[in-house]
Amino acid sequence: MNHTSCDSGAQKPLQPLEVPSAIARIKSKIVVLSGKGGVGKSTVAANLAAGLALEGLKTGLLDVDVHGPSIPRIMGLAGIKPDMAGDTILPVEWNWNLKVVSMGFFLPNPDEPVIWRGPVKGGVIKQFLHQVAWGDLDCLVVDCPPGTGDEPLSVMQLLGPDAVALVVTSPQDVAIDDVRRSVAFCRELGNPVLGIVENLSGFHCHQCGTVHDIFKSGGGEKLAEASGVPFLGRIPIDTEVGKAADQGEAYLAVKGTSPAALAFRQVVLAAVAHTEAASATLRAGA
Ligand code: ADP
Repeated sequence: MNHTSCDSGAQKPLQPLEVPSAIARIKSKIVVLSGKGGVGKSTVAANLAAGLALEGLKTGLLDVDVHGPSIPRIMGLAGIKPDMAGDTILPVEWNWNLKVVSMGFFLPNPDEPVIWRGPVKGGVIKQFLHQVAWGDLDCLVVDCPPGTGDEPLSVMQLLGPDAVALVVTSPQDVAIDDVRRSVAFCRELGNPVLGIVENLSGFHCHQCGTVHDIFKSGGGEKLAEASGVPFLGRIPIDTEVGKAADQGEAYLAVKGTSPAALAFRQVVLAAVAHTEAASATLRAGA
């Protein structure tokens, strides 16, 4: 894969774009990627951000999915328009620790498709990182559209090499193949992978209380092992997760001890550990 135009066909290393000063005030950056749509990437991003905020970390959640922004719905913020201070966007406060900005806040009509070419999308993403009053954040979680196209590329380049990826997959082989590409994408850009999460992994039956493996599971773990990246766990299909997302409630806040909530918690704890390590590195370099 080569995102630069190059006549010789040789791979040229991608250069990070200029780092805006706003980003320098963010200690850790976690970009949530998936190879395919519909594997629960936005659900994981929203729960991760909510979980970090509930752990007491100053958190930002940025949704750069131009074509299908679902964060406003999942976070119960649909229809909200952020305030502006001059040219600066004031993020919407989900709670005192979590600031949210989504492409969905700015689309005039959610029913109309957005037809933007790559450079336009890149410009908007730059604005979301540069011209938003994020303030001092412990962690910024970025929800990207699926695949390895313009948006994840712009996000990674703008955030720089210390941004890490959280790759969400479903257990099916076809999704796993796509995730392999996401991991390769991060490697090529020089961004570490925080870990792989297997969502929709088994079904949590609320009647008997157990998780049934209705499809095969474990593909994400095998892929993590083969790629040498941490495996952060399996999140089962849980009707409460979907219901909470539809109702705009952060799942972690409503169901604290179910298998899905415990699995989400593992992801949150990995992100907390990463943020602590990133803060320590920043302090050492200061
Ligand atoms: P993506 O961002 O990958 O396109 P979403 O996060 O929008 O996927 O999730 C797709 C659908 O699956 C949503 O309706 C969501 O509520 C549901 N969903 C995601 N994860 C789970 C889960 N673990 N259990 C039940 N429903 C889930």
